[in-house]
Amino acid sequence: MKITKVETFVLSNELKESFFFSQWAYSERRICVVKISTDIGVVGWGEGYGPADVISAGIKILVPLLIGKNPIEQETIWHEMYRRTLDYARRGVLAASISAVDVALWDIKGRALNLPVSVLMGGQHRTKVMPYATGLYFSQSNKLSEKLAEEAKSYVEQGFRAIKMKVGYSIKEDIKHVKAVREAIGNDVKLMVDANHAYSLREAAELARQIETYNIGWFEEPVSPEFYHHYKELRTKTAIPITGGECEYLRYGFQQLLANDCVDILQVDICGAGGLTEAKRIATLASTRGIELIPHVWGTGIAFHAALHFIANLEPVPGRLLSPDFYIEYDRTENGIRESLTAPEIKMENGFIEIPQRPGLGIEVNEDVLHQYSTEILV
Ligand code: MG
Repeated sequence: MKITKVETFVLSNELKESFFFSQWAYSERRICVVKISTDIGVVGWGEGYGPADVISAGIKILVPLLIGKNPIEQETIWHEMYRRTLDYARRGVLAASISAVDVALWDIKGRALNLPVSVLMGGQHRTKVMPYATGLYFSQSNKLSEKLAEEAKSYVEQGFRAIKMKVGYSIKEDIKHVKAVREAIGNDVKLMVDANHAYSLREAAELARQIETYNIGWFEEPVSPEFYHHYKELRTKTAIPITGGECEYLRYGFQQLLANDCVDILQVDICGAGGLTEAKRIATLASTRGIELIPHVWGTGIAFHAALHFIANLEPVPGRLLSPDFYIEYDRTENGIRESLTAPEIKMENGFIEIPQRPGLGIEVNEDVLHQYSTEILV
């Protein structure tokens, strides 16, 4: 089997209602998707996390390395892509270009061999995972606490047993929001907070101290990803587990988080950090230190399914007969592309999502929808 064609698509969807978080506002969803074709008619789909236009341009650089290669040999292909980008982007968005290609190659491999990606990765430790709803962003409402409480309640009504909300507005407002959400959802639903690195160490410690009473599952990206020592110090100042990693790339970046004892839970984005091939290596690194891994997931059903297979294959560390629930991030903010690009529809039953047993990632991409949202095609 040989790769014959690589196409990237930059998909765009204007939001009906813009929302914001601690760093900037969203008024559009813009996502880079890659389609890789082979000489036997099998195609695979991948997706990059981050600025879609740059990821798309990055993939264009990689195309000459891919044409004619056997997609089954994705580790050697991965290494060539890494060497081609290393001199200019040891970390960052070109890793997302590599990731998109790598996910597509795993999809091809699964489809060609008629096996789910998680089985090809070495097997399924579990057949279902617990989604947590990501939402509860900020908006211009003058009754934001009430609005967040209502949104949180709607997730519980949909069957979610875990929810993540944004903090990083201001410490005073964050405390009000967390209190309102916790009171709205009761004590049986897990609640996590995410600052997207809005705070200094002193501020993060203060917020953690003030919200500890609301039984917080984890505090995500409390401080800048540049300050590894602040992560480490914050862990000594709060009982809330500290998480991070969505701004980190490749095993070399994650090694920094691990070596510096920065986090209780690593959050690898498969479509940004180097693809499934590299995420599996990062999971191995994390396992040597007994650190949990819950991927960061953002984007379409392609990214979501890549994460489903990855989590199915994640080795439980430590192992035990009655394994705890494994979580997957499930973005619930407005995204017309996510809702219509892939089939079958993602279904939650009794608070869990089943790992697909279909070949490859287990999805079909609706190419009419792809072209409907597409802003450009690079071949
Ligand atoms: Mg986050």
